Amino acid sequence: MTDACVFCDIVAGKFGTKFLYEDEDVVSFADLHAVAPSHVLVVPREHFADLPAASTSSDAIGVLGKLLNVAAKMGESAIKDGGYRVVINSGPQAGQTVFHLHLHVMAGRHFAWPPG
Ligand code: AMP
Ligand code: ZN
Repeated sequence: MTDACVFCDIVAGKFGTKFLYEDEDVVSFADLHAVAPSHVLVVPREHFADLPAASTSSDAIGVLGKLLNVAAKMGESAIKDGGYRVVINSGPQAGQTVFHLHLHVMAGRHFAWPPG
């Protein structure tokens, strides 16, 4: 738990957020401002400010592997409809606004490449 972190509060159940997936390490819930018909976030229960922070943690491979694995679970049902996109914004220039590591898993529409 870190002071004034909205995702730590969500993980702690402070807002009664509905978890679409949860286990001892990771939760997933709907993004508040969905930018696709399906847009969920995959979030470690442990607070890491961003991907660089998680990647230098003592169990980096375990944490990051788990997050990607859960992202694949959350996207699984979209494969038959054309696929899904997983995004990690790292740093303000990349669009990160919540500084608790999270993966966006988005589906249900075409995603352009390169992204904006
Ligand atoms: P990023 O810009 O990559 O840091 O993504 C942060 C995401 O968190 C945005 O897509 C927001 O819509 C989402 N978000 C912020 N607050 C909440 C919240 N309380 N519940 C669900 N999603 C949130
Ligand atoms: Zn946090």
